[in-house]
Amino acid sequence: MLSPDKVVHLQEIGVLQEKVLAYMRRFWPAMQPYKTMLDKMLFEAGDEIPQYVFYICPICTNEFIYIQHNAAFGSCEFSCDHFPPKNVKGSTQALVCKSCNNKAGHEFDYVTKDFLVERALNMRIPGTVIATKVQIKDVKGWYHSEMTIDENGELMFSFLPDKNKKAVPLQAFMEKRLYKKDWTADITIPRTKLAKAEKAFIKSAYLTCFDQFGYDFIYSETGRHLRNVMEGKETYPYKNIPAFIFDDPEKMQLIPGTICRITHPQEWNVFAVAIPMADQHYSCLATVLIPGPDDWNQLTLLNELIDTEVDRQVSFTAIPPVMPKMP
Ligand SMILES: [Zn+2]
Repeated sequence: MLSPDKVVHLQEIGVLQEKVLAYMRRFWPAMQPYKTMLDKMLFEAGDEIPQYVFYICPICTNEFIYIQHNAAFGSCEFSCDHFPPKNVKGSTQALVCKSCNNKAGHEFDYVTKDFLVERALNMRIPGTVIATKVQIKDVKGWYHSEMTIDENGELMFSFLPDKNKKAVPLQAFMEKRLYKKDWTADITIPRTKLAKAEKAFIKSAYLTCFDQFGYDFIYSETGRHLRNVMEGKETYPYKNIPAFIFDDPEKMQLIPGTICRITHPQEWNVFAVAIPMADQHYSCLATVLIPGPDDWNQLTLLNELIDTEVDRQVSFTAIPPVMPKMP
């Protein structure tokens, strides 16, 4: 039987029970091919195996929720995780263990917003704001400053965006109109932590595949490699994450589904997972390339095959989801 010290009552799990049950009902059929594995995980040899329903955290594949005779248990707390992250207006959710949810949130999910803002800044999208730091020669201290793109696409710099903030030396500099003379300043513009952004993209693509293909994806070779990438145990072999970014509405239509096979060029032999992201002033569809279930080496080959500088014809064909929609 389940070890009593490993389980907590479902009531203690921080998600609405109905929501948990809906998730479990949706994914339980997809767990059936793995039932022998689950039986071994849950019961001792020789135990009489009762009827049960089981959901396993798709990210760590260790923590679980389990229902037997209408009693529900979890190996830890579970919560709903947004993919892509909420900070880029992600609206799809997956039920994951709280530890995986918190870990991704602290370690890398927060960077997706920086990625979007930096892109909008480079494209001079009006309304874009990026937090910077400024240090002016002969003025004591450094200050939170801001760069914005105005309605004409011009770059504006604000030394003291928060007027209520106390910054005596800087305010003195402004009041004495010292900026009328020659002056120099160091401005620090934070760059997106790309290694973290890559993990966030991989996680969104991974959970999208789980949402559409269920546990067959999780237990595939590709699923295992992607978990290793998220845990930092291996690097993603293809150098461009995300691979393609579409922000022109006309070009967005080239992507006919959430998961597509790239049908041309055929030799790329890969799937594109579309990740919709939005900020206040900018939205796009970013794609992560995922190989077939046992085709991980294809990602290495792609480095030779795809030159993103070349504007070539790429065709996408939508792959219908295997999993039923959420009721
Ligand atoms: Zn987990």
